[in-house]
Amino acid sequence: MTRPQLIYLDHNATTPLSPEAKAAMSAAFEVPGNPSSIHRAGRAARALVEDAREAVAALAGAKPADVVFTAGGTEANALALRGLVRAMGCRAALCSMVEHPSVIANMTDVESFLAVDANGVVDVAALQQRLKNMPSPVLVSVMLANNETGALQPVAEIARLVHEAGGYVHCDAVQAPGRLSFSLASLGVDALTLSAHKFGGPKGVGALVMRAGLKVTPLFEGGGQEKSRRSGTENVIGIAGFGAAAKTVPQRLSAVAKIASLRDGIEARIVQSVPGAVIHAKSAARLPNTICVSVPGVASQTQVIQLDLAGVCVSTGSACSSGKISLSHVLKAMGVADELTATAIRVSLGVETTEADANAFLESYIPIALGQAGGNA
Ligand code: PLP
Repeated sequence: MTRPQLIYLDHNATTPLSPEAKAAMSAAFEVPGNPSSIHRAGRAARALVEDAREAVAALAGAKPADVVFTAGGTEANALALRGLVRAMGCRAALCSMVEHPSVIANMTDVESFLAVDANGVVDVAALQQRLKNMPSPVLVSVMLANNETGALQPVAEIARLVHEAGGYVHCDAVQAPGRLSFSLASLGVDALTLSAHKFGGPKGVGALVMRAGLKVTPLFEGGGQEKSRRSGTENVIGIAGFGAAAKTVPQRLSAVAKIASLRDGIEARIVQSVPGAVIHAKSAARLPNTICVSVPGVASQTQVIQLDLAGVCVSTGSACSSGKISLSHVLKAMGVADELTATAIRVSLGVETTEADANAFLESYIPIALGQAGGNA
């Protein structure tokens, strides 16, 4: 039996390693030094880390000194939410109800969550009201783009309100690089989170980008690397890959129009062919690459398994919740009925996605969504 060709449409879970990142990592394997060592091998490793720091800073419109390398987006979010709260003396923290679990898990209070509308967008007027009645200063964490639906948050507007109230703003921008132009200044936030593997870099490396003057209490103590903000010998190979991936972001942004047009074509065909199909967050400003769609009657897991048998990789929601049977907290916060949430899948396109991939997906998906596909999945 020949294996079906792999059609990878799960770019919000992770993206394929780019050739640029792979080449930079291969070169870094040849550098034996520890970046903290004074000798030439150490200095060579340090040069790789600092070159990557410049590239990551440029991607976020920040200065190299503002970049703290971490072991991924999850750690950067924890560093922001625990470390900024402590170091800046915040008396409360808030986040939206649709944040990634790595943000939500750091909230200590049930009152910490900001409601969203039916498109998953934060209710700014409600936030303004909340800010009036909160102890100050407050840290507010709002993501730039949602990993499940692609919906964008009005981060700049939120940042303005929070700053007027004397608070601080953190933005989980993990899903944005290469899909949306942004910078620390254009968002007006104090800190933002990045993760290399969402734009062609390796998994397990990320950064918290913090504006100058902001302090962060480290999550753990040690050798004082990263200006005492994140101890531990730097992941030189991963960081080199992160930097190389950051340099490809302008190229990735130039593919956005093509990706959006493929996305629109897929959504139009689904709506035409599958009665009752619902595209979530359709009326929100969205990432160009993300489709979150429910169809009546066919469970998400069934769809994902049947698509996998056809060689198509998609997800039942966020990568972190795939494998679990729990329903998406994002769709729940948007007020989507449980029966519809239980049939949602996420299809996320990437720079490599072609029209042939989109057509192959539709050819497999439409019979599955109509409940006409065979098999016991
Ligand atoms: N934030 C968002 C919005 C994400 O989509 C993810 C990963 O799925 C993370 C944070 C966590 O990043 P990492 O996988 O690098 O820990």
